[in-house]
Amino acid sequence: MRILVTGAAGFLGSHLSRYLLAKGHSVVGLDNFITGNPDNILDLFKNGKFEFIKYDVTNYLNVPGKLDAVMHFASPASPIDYLKYPIPTLKVGALGTHKALGLAKDKKAIFMIASTSEVYGDPLINPQHEGYWGNVNPVGPRGVYDEAKRFAEALTMAYRRYHHMQVRIVRIFNTYGPNMRLKDGRAVPNFMVQALKNKPITIYGDGTQTRSLCYVSDLIDGIYRLLKSGINEPVNIGNPRELTLLELAGMVKTAAGSRSRIVFRPLPEDDPKVRRPDISRAMKTLKWRPKVSLEDGLRKTVAYFRTRV
Ligand code: UDP
Repeated sequence: MRILVTGAAGFLGSHLSRYLLAKGHSVVGLDNFITGNPDNILDLFKNGKFEFIKYDVTNYLNVPGKLDAVMHFASPASPIDYLKYPIPTLKVGALGTHKALGLAKDKKAIFMIASTSEVYGDPLINPQHEGYWGNVNPVGPRGVYDEAKRFAEALTMAYRRYHHMQVRIVRIFNTYGPNMRLKDGRAVPNFMVQALKNKPITIYGDGTQTRSLCYVSDLIDGIYRLLKSGINEPVNIGNPRELTLLELAGMVKTAAGSRSRIVFRPLPEDDPKVRRPDISRAMKTLKWRPKVSLEDGLRKTVAYFRTRV
């Protein structure tokens, strides 16, 4: 297949592009580098099947030649980025999804949107299954991301119903691994950098909020299975092992062999109290389940951050 990946220089986009190339596909990568990092894809330029276009996907999109799939992975994805780039975040989820869908329709390609557990907002049920409609504050600081992704899902389903396109909606839960930026601002990179420098680990709130963390190779495996499936409805991909942020901080400290102490900082507005994917649909329809334990994943991620800190 020849596959367009938007956000190819980002954390997930770079892993996805590398994986697709390893499977023998051709990849056209697109990124405007507002949060993507060219270092993440430097090695891919040696591969004759990789092409790259520096471009903002919110503008009219023209990619010459055939495309079999369009995978729209461009977006700021860290809460600190939503605050820094609120309007680009809304635009890439809304206008960018529109452009990427239009291109996919034109090329008769499968369209995949990288959606998110944030469509469930601060959930009132735990775990979250795909039938849950969510609890999102449209006017809060996270609303720019949550609502853009919800709009992106709605638009994707409209193209499915009206144009009968093949579409894939992956709802991605918290994911971690190499290629995250040191200053990404999310819990895992923050804790890694703090632990490796033996600086205080910053817990927001009292640390009893929960998340469920998926190692990036498991996530990419699930995404690839979804791409190849015929499933045109949302599918959660994530690791259902749920833990508190305090537990996570302790595990990162152990993995890094760190002497850091824990300090407490104010909880950001609308920070979800719990989050855990119900992955029954993925297990049943994609025969997928995560394989990498949190202990192993954190060890691999520490090794990456150690080379960067
Ligand atoms: N968090 C924290 N310390 C940090 C960064 C994040 O305690 O230095 C918390 C954050 O408030 C949230 C959880 O960790 O409760 C996960 O945050 P992250 O930004 O990784 O992703 P989210 O799931 O909120 O999108």
